[in-house]
Amino acid sequence: MIIVMSQSATKQDIANVENKLTELGFKTHPIYGDIKTVIGAIGDKRLLNIHAVSQMPGVETLVPIMKPYKLASNELQQSPTVIEVGDVRIGGNEIVVMAGPCAIENENDFVETAKKVRNAGAKILRGGAFKPRSSPYAFQGLEEDGLKIMVAGREATGLKLVTEVVDTRDVELVNKYTDIFQIGARNMQNFRLLSEVGMTSKPVLLKRGLSATIEEWLMAAEYIIAEGNHNVILCERGIRTFETMTRNTLDLSAIPAIKEVSHLPIVVDPSHATGNWKFVPALAKGAVATGADGLIIEVHPNPPCALCDGPQSLRPEKFETLMQELRLVAQSVQRTI
Ligand code: PEP
Ligand code: MN
Repeated sequence: MIIVMSQSATKQDIANVENKLTELGFKTHPIYGDIKTVIGAIGDKRLLNIHAVSQMPGVETLVPIMKPYKLASNELQQSPTVIEVGDVRIGGNEIVVMAGPCAIENENDFVETAKKVRNAGAKILRGGAFKPRSSPYAFQGLEEDGLKIMVAGREATGLKLVTEVVDTRDVELVNKYTDIFQIGARNMQNFRLLSEVGMTSKPVLLKRGLSATIEEWLMAAEYIIAEGNHNVILCERGIRTFETMTRNTLDLSAIPAIKEVSHLPIVVDPSHATGNWKFVPALAKGAVATGADGLIIEVHPNPPCALCDGPQSLRPEKFETLMQELRLVAQSVQRTI
């Protein structure tokens, strides 16, 4: 339910309504707009005494939220969510590019790659320290040693970090090092993990599940927001289809579809979407043209020797050329990179 407060409602009126809702067993999520405040009330609607709440001073009207995802829906919040990671803003006019290797392999390569992607214009450094591999025998990541190398990359470049957390037991550890949590496609419906990162205050990059519908994806975002962490960035990374020429099928229509129903920012991962570095530039440009708020791209100094996802990784020089091309596409949709 959305409680719309009138323009003349005082701070005390808003606090009284919130207290009343809490007393009735609801979780409240106030959104303070320039003109009006609205309060999202999440809970069992049978417990809501609509008459009592609607009669309270300062209450203008009560509107039910029809969508199954409530806090992620733009029925509750119309203005787009802009997530601040230091001085980087995700969801504003600037398209934010995140780049780096699939997995962190060693400090020297990581720091060198970090400098190159920064010089090319990336704002966030990616790298996996915990890798969710399809095979238990494949490289699983350097774990905490990898996180320490990431920090060296941040110190050398000033870039913010995004890295994946694969298990609830690691949330506290990863939280000590990263600026943004990544929840991978395979964990999109790991509800305990979603709730756990929802209890932190760090932004969460939530990848779309391999065969998740947009509604299931938004419901996963809802798990995070319901715990009080509103800083969710959605990431379209391709879905499973019958097609085998590409690793996945990039669903670019998810971008306008998400914008239609949600206030959350959305970024695109053309690397996992295609599995082939040759296709990455075209899809990155397509994502910018279709309204993505950012990109996350795998870059490796020597892809044939990469321990993970070499075939889809761009060399730093190719990444730099792509960044130049992306600026032109961004300009044509009145955005910057
Ligand atoms: C990754 O970013 O390296 C990764 C494993 O991605 P996804 O979860 O989208 O497969
Ligand atoms: Mn990867």
